[in-house]
Amino acid sequence: MKRAARASRSARPRGIARLAVFGVGLIGGSFALALKKRRAVARVVGVGRSRANLQAARRLGIIDEIAVDAATAVRGADFVLVAVPLGQTAAAFAQIAPHLAPHAIVTDAGSTKKDVIALARRHLGKAFARFVPGHPIAGTEKSGARAAFASLFEGRNLIVTPEPETDPRALRLVCATWKRVGMKVVEMTAIRHDRVFALVSHLPHLLSFALVGQIAGRRDAATLFSHTGGGFRDLTRLAGSSPEMWRDICLANRDEILSAIDGYLDELELLHGLIEAGDGAALEARFATARTARAKWLKPA
Ligand code: NAD
Repeated sequence: MKRAARASRSARPRGIARLAVFGVGLIGGSFALALKKRRAVARVVGVGRSRANLQAARRLGIIDEIAVDAATAVRGADFVLVAVPLGQTAAAFAQIAPHLAPHAIVTDAGSTKKDVIALARRHLGKAFARFVPGHPIAGTEKSGARAAFASLFEGRNLIVTPEPETDPRALRLVCATWKRVGMKVVEMTAIRHDRVFALVSHLPHLLSFALVGQIAGRRDAATLFSHTGGGFRDLTRLAGSSPEMWRDICLANRDEILSAIDGYLDELELLHGLIEAGDGAALEARFATARTARAKWLKPA
């Protein structure tokens, strides 16, 4: 075999022999499906809280096997993905830690990173070096195995936030695996990650929940909802997201989310003042600045 061909073959990830997925929902299920579609995994075993969801996952071909417990799931697994709601992360790490194979690589999909890293450090012991903190920036407002689809990650970013102890080989392998399902990898610190995503993801979800909540709490809610149009529907799509998942994200990224809310309240306060003062010119200038910024952001490269 020619040397270049051999080198390029060895640079490709060899694929996963046994993937254990903790939390076979939208993210865990889509990861398994995407790897299966590319024949990059031989066997997928799922662990979860809901038997019905796991059975659906097996019927849909997302997983090959339902593990009765964490020990059975990770025994012999070379790759473990933790994709549970953030509030379940500590329990998942604690359950898998004693049973991990010495070569097993662990990663997660959690929407916050500082807290997940602290939990991994506390519970994974020696295996912490083989834990690669990750966050795929892909999703929908749907949950559960039935919401999973193989193309979810294509063309989207994966954020990795390695720590000084992270084994470079584990980092390379996790990045190569997510690239294989179509993701572009971006590396940043966990602190920066949590600050950025408080602003561009967590705050928009809260605004969406608040917008619907504000109307739902009124006596004339039904009438108001009957008059909504496309704008209201677009702005409130995120309020269809899992309440459990968003409760956990708010608690995990408390300080950054509180500061993002404060920034937004300042902006609303400013608009409030301009409307109160009848300052049409300043209002228009404010809206024009936002519209220009949006157009620039969405401009095709
Ligand atoms: P999901 O609700 O679709 O799936 C989570 C699954 O975890 C469910 O099937 C649930 O039964 C299972 N589960 C709950 N507790 C468990 C436990 N103790 N052990 C094992 N399984 C358990 O949620 P999702 O959207 O796939 O999100 C999973 C993770 O990915 C979350 O941490 C979330 O923050 C993160 N994430 C979500 C999105 C998104 O848009 N949905 C995007 C990026 C990252």
